[in-house]
Amino acid sequence: MPVEKSDMIVTVLGSGTCVPSIERSSCAVMLEVRNARLLFDSGPGTMRRLLRTNTTIFDVDYIFYSHFHPDHTAELVPLLFATKYPDMSQRQKVLTIVAGVGFEDFFAGLKTVYGKWIELDPGLMEILQMSNHFADSRRLKDFTIQSAPVEHNPESIAYRVTGAGGGSVVYSGDTDYSESLIALSTDADLLICESSLPDDYRIKGHLTPALAGDIATRAGVRKLVLTHFYPECDKTDIEQECRKTYDGPLVLAEDLMRIEL
Ligand SMILES: [Zn+2]
Ligand SMILES: [Zn+2]
Repeated sequence: MPVEKSDMIVTVLGSGTCVPSIERSSCAVMLEVRNARLLFDSGPGTMRRLLRTNTTIFDVDYIFYSHFHPDHTAELVPLLFATKYPDMSQRQKVLTIVAGVGFEDFFAGLKTVYGKWIELDPGLMEILQMSNHFADSRRLKDFTIQSAPVEHNPESIAYRVTGAGGGSVVYSGDTDYSESLIALSTDADLLICESSLPDDYRIKGHLTPALAGDIATRAGVRKLVLTHFYPECDKTDIEQECRKTYDGPLVLAEDLMRIEL
């Protein structure tokens, strides 16, 4: 049977930032593609949000990191430590960590602090680094992954996942206005885009609703999901701000929201 586009399901695990919030956990998105479960970022609180979707850490096949800020990576240490309880036997498959070049150094730094507490048995964890300077791609078992550097940190990359049925999801990570994000998102079914602050609060290295809408319009995406909301976003009509530049289907992310393609 041909694989349909609806074989891709997005669950927003954390629609927030570094700011502690009951409603908005730090950044994380789960994407289910066929039998694979992909995490995009793992900010603090991700494991508990995963449990709310009946997913354990042992079900996760891939973690894709957009960059290394703590609100996107901090759950990696407790996740690996928890994988060792009681003896690593619950992880039956490889955990592949995908990130921009620099991740191996970042992880080596974590190991100088945590040592064996975050080391898994040989063969249980792999690291796949993608270019942080150029567009890059890999054909993996259940999907294809493309990446592009974006405007935030030196290691920052955005990802596009294309399933066997042709459906495509782009995850921006944190970024300022980015031509390479537009190129990566061209004609995507779904763009999950950061929209950190309202238009009047714009800061370098981040997007606002109108800028995210402009990127979505120029890329011709079929649906736009705004996420990564600082508290100011919840006091502003960000939908109206986004509508200045984008008139397609629009979703404002909330934790545990499910979006099927
Ligand atoms: Zn960041
Ligand atoms: Zn962030």
